[in-house]
Amino acid sequence: MKGFTDELNYIVELLEGGTTLEDVIDNHIYEQALAEKNAFVVADLGALLQQHVLWQSTLPLVRPFYPVKCNSSPAVIEILAALGVGFVCANKAEVSMVLNHDVSPENIILSGVCKQQSHIKHAAKNGINYLVCDNEAELGKIARVHPNAKLLLQLCTEAQTEEASMVFGCSLKSCRHLLEAAKELGVDVVGVVFQVPASCKDLQVYAHALSDARCVFDMGEELGFKMEILDIGSGFSGSEYQLKQTHAAIRPLLEAYFPVMSGVRVIAEPGTFYVSSSFTLVVNVLGKKLVAKDLHGEPKELTPSDEPEFLYYLSDGVFGSFVGKLLGNIIPSPTVHKISLSADEPVFSSSLWGPSCDALDQVVEHCLLPELSVGDWLIFKNMGASGHEETAVISDSEKPPMYYTISESSWFEMQEAGISLDNTMKNFSLVPYGL
Ligand SMILES: *Cc1c(COP(=O)(O)O)cnc(C)c1O
Repeated sequence: MKGFTDELNYIVELLEGGTTLEDVIDNHIYEQALAEKNAFVVADLGALLQQHVLWQSTLPLVRPFYPVKCNSSPAVIEILAALGVGFVCANKAEVSMVLNHDVSPENIILSGVCKQQSHIKHAAKNGINYLVCDNEAELGKIARVHPNAKLLLQLCTEAQTEEASMVFGCSLKSCRHLLEAAKELGVDVVGVVFQVPASCKDLQVYAHALSDARCVFDMGEELGFKMEILDIGSGFSGSEYQLKQTHAAIRPLLEAYFPVMSGVRVIAEPGTFYVSSSFTLVVNVLGKKLVAKDLHGEPKELTPSDEPEFLYYLSDGVFGSFVGKLLGNIIPSPTVHKISLSADEPVFSSSLWGPSCDALDQVVEHCLLPELSVGDWLIFKNMGASGHEETAVISDSEKPPMYYTISESSWFEMQEAGISLDNTMKNFSLVPYGL
């Protein structure tokens, strides 16, 4: 039996000898080609460890807290928990899931700036005290049902004001107000959180955010709060280059505003960073159409002088594994799985569509691909943070089967890092690949 068995227990295939992820993908394509030609996902769990090692070596003083909503596969939660990563949960279900993996409540932050009261109560009951807050209404709710809460005030950054129509986080001025209100209500405030989205290319944003955070720390301390946690949020794409750039930008600022001597714990919320590269989605080409683009880029009937464009219909779309597209993520162009794809094969302008025939169901607006045939397979890498876990929210379409793998060398490294089947990884059933 392959894939996962129930919510918590799952099977991980150990790739021994020279077996690669490409071999695994080839074999599943072969199996699927004989069966229903369904989409499937292959996860390389070793990539989680590689990312963790990269994080630890680049930002050793910043402790990662993984936002569960990025990908809540049990294997991801279990490995990250075993590696000592903390968790950011957006609701009660995520909290319960993380607690089920024996994560201690002080390693969990309940995020979101307008939480359901029952979720705040649930956190209180389970000893989860770190809660994010950016407004007085929320503060009032927390004061009523969670007397032991330790708040992280969410500060807004310029990057967000430019991008988002709905701004999360409060200004410096409202932070003072909120601190005073917390003082009055007897709610503890212990730190600050801010978010710089990965799409923000201007690292100068960190200079303002960190100096603002320092101001809030000073205001908090003036009012008698013990300010001890600085959360620099998310925004790490997963690339080593971007992580190093960000580190170079924030290191002098942290040294100036929050030196190690101050005792402030600096944390971050890398989500995409951890999971993106571990998951690969493989889909089948169900149909194709040849059209031409008119001057406005709209498809029209083809005349001989036109530049042709291929429309391909895939076995999975935005109401399934590509739900991230609806959430505003860009789906990276796929590669073609073809045994005999020659290097000089001509490529054509192509667009990729899901199977629903809905105008929204466009997966990739434009990419260059060799001419495909119905029945070919496309491989989408870096799909770990694209929300395919959440598919069930939007449609009741069946989730594609998920095959977890880990290479022998990664498994060896995990054991070196102190992870073994009999301590934390009790839901992990490791079997040799191919059995
Ligand atoms: C989604 C989310 C993140 C993750 O952002 P990435 O850019 O994917 O790392 C971090 N923190 C919170 C509170 C989130 O909701």
